[in-house]
Amino acid sequence: MKEHRILFDGIDTPDVDRWPVYQSHGGGEGLRRAQSLSPQTIIDEVGSAGLRGRGGAWRLVDVRWRQARAEGGAQYVVVDLLESEPGRFRDRKLAERHPHRLLEGARIAAHAVGASCVYVCIAAAATRARQVLGQAIEETGDQAIPIHLHPVQGPLPLATGDSLALEVLQGGRAEPRATDDVPGLPRLFSTGTAVVHTASTLGYLPSLLTTAGEIFSGVGSSWAPGTQAFCVSGLVRRPGLYEVELGAGTVRDLVEGAAGGARHDQAIKFVLHAGYGSTPVLRDTMLDRELDPGGWADPAAGEISGAFGGGVVLVADDSVCAVDTARRLAHTFADTACGKCLPCREGTAWLQSALEGLEQGTGTARDLEWVTRRCAHLSSSDLSLCGHGPMAARGIQALLEAFPDEFASHVDGGCPISKDLSMKVPDSVHVRY
Ligand code: SF4
Repeated sequence: MKEHRILFDGIDTPDVDRWPVYQSHGGGEGLRRAQSLSPQTIIDEVGSAGLRGRGGAWRLVDVRWRQARAEGGAQYVVVDLLESEPGRFRDRKLAERHPHRLLEGARIAAHAVGASCVYVCIAAAATRARQVLGQAIEETGDQAIPIHLHPVQGPLPLATGDSLALEVLQGGRAEPRATDDVPGLPRLFSTGTAVVHTASTLGYLPSLLTTAGEIFSGVGSSWAPGTQAFCVSGLVRRPGLYEVELGAGTVRDLVEGAAGGARHDQAIKFVLHAGYGSTPVLRDTMLDRELDPGGWADPAAGEISGAFGGGVVLVADDSVCAVDTARRLAHTFADTACGKCLPCREGTAWLQSALEGLEQGTGTARDLEWVTRRCAHLSSSDLSLCGHGPMAARGIQALLEAFPDEFASHVDGGCPISKDLSMKVPDSVHVRY
């Protein structure tokens, strides 16, 4: 599968993270053009290009911007660079290697929605990205739209929507808001409103504005034009970031073609195509699904079930135990739950402990039945304020559905698979770029 770079266009240019080099390769052209246009024209161009957010919900960018203008404009643009989900490293790499593209995109968005200031909410642990972005902000000097970096300490919940970044920005605890899905723009600093985007969504804007949207024409699917940069990790030969055209290939093309397939000539056992929230888990025979978010179950509705996801692809070969993967998944969600609502806080910890028992050989058939029932209970979004709890439950449910015999074989005996390799955590793999 061939890479097609729009977001990462020019990333291999030496020293492109320095402003003079970025500028000498056409950088800044998109913002200059945007400043010569009316906000309405920018929104129309982004709308006719069909740009959707790349975070996982795949909402149309221009719809949110039109809403902002209809409400009298947004005061702030917030860049979500928290990337708390295991396996997600795309935005961090964009910030480290192509910081001016990200900053230029953020300023274009601010111009379109009428914002006077940009905040970048970035994981405190992303030290290299913070340093490079800080340097890039200094290099561009005083601009009409200032950009501020706001480091955030983890661990942070996953699948929280836009409100987590807003809460931490205004000095609150790292907890999602209960009002994340109310109509209207979210509030920031009591009287202001904000538009929140992931970094990679904004990274497309310089190219879109420079070419009046033409760069997307004929690229990608009709529902989601353009490309997506997939973070492929796990037990593959070439883990890394692959920017490919949407709808021009399958999951198999990505993991077996671009990423080289399973390591050590082992067979692929399953792929978590949407990270830890993948439903269904894709077994080897199911890898011929198209990489087109429009073809999956209603991703625009924000439902996790059957969702295409935000480009996090985890690959497991046949040395990986499905129960152990479920245990790791439960451990991650239990560790990162903010504790605001009881079913998620307690449920994820109980699931972790029950799955540990199954993996170690002390679990019983009753424990397995309990895990199944607890997941069904927790997957109902009515019980949780954000998507964290339901995502944990649905991810484990998907593994239970894909490998029922493997779960059953753990009862009263422990894991029958001798593991000489564990799934690599994403930060330990060599990342291309
Ligand atoms: S679902 Fe979990 S992470 Fe989300 S608000 Fe409730 S306790 Fe916090």
